[in-house]
Amino acid sequence: MVDKIKAEKAIEMFLEAIGEDLNREGIKDTPKRVAKMYEELTSGYSLNAKEPLSKVFSVNHSDLVLVKDINFHSLCEHHLLPFMGNVHIAYIPNTQVVGLSKLARTVEIYARRLQLQEQLTNQIADSIYEYLKPKGVFVVVSAEHTCMTMRGIKKVGSKTLSYSSKGVFKDNYQLQKNVLDLINNG
Ligand SMILES: [Zn+2]
Repeated sequence: MVDKIKAEKAIEMFLEAIGEDLNREGIKDTPKRVAKMYEELTSGYSLNAKEPLSKVFSVNHSDLVLVKDINFHSLCEHHLLPFMGNVHIAYIPNTQVVGLSKLARTVEIYARRLQLQEQLTNQIADSIYEYLKPKGVFVVVSAEHTCMTMRGIKKVGSKTLSYSSKGVFKDNYQLQKNVLDLINNG
């Protein structure tokens, strides 16, 4: 839970530090708004992916399931700037599958925290592997980092790709390649 009073105070101090006048019409409610916004953007800390990933149903299906293009927005923990893009989740069920919206929910739970893309990718894969218990899971995240496009080297349009593989996908580059082909062309 965000300490909103403390967060508001911090934003006030930050605005003062950059030379703003806290009484200026346009920003007088900014500390309140920003504190509330960060509460929403970090709401994932109080949630556990076990909850959506426990809503499983049994199937007689042991071939690949691929959910592509789950859109997300997160905050980079180094600059507190957004990074955003898509998550692709592939898994090979054991005896159970989960509703597709639950995978999107899982992405949301980890994206709404201060993050590193690599860590986000791993946490999504780990939670699916642990709670859904598939034969394997392969997660691909493609994102644009505004800390790279708005500042520093300003590489507009550059994308960062990260991968996490568990179970049968681990070190099986042929299987991973099949999924990557489906993501890129399917
Ligand atoms: Zn950053």
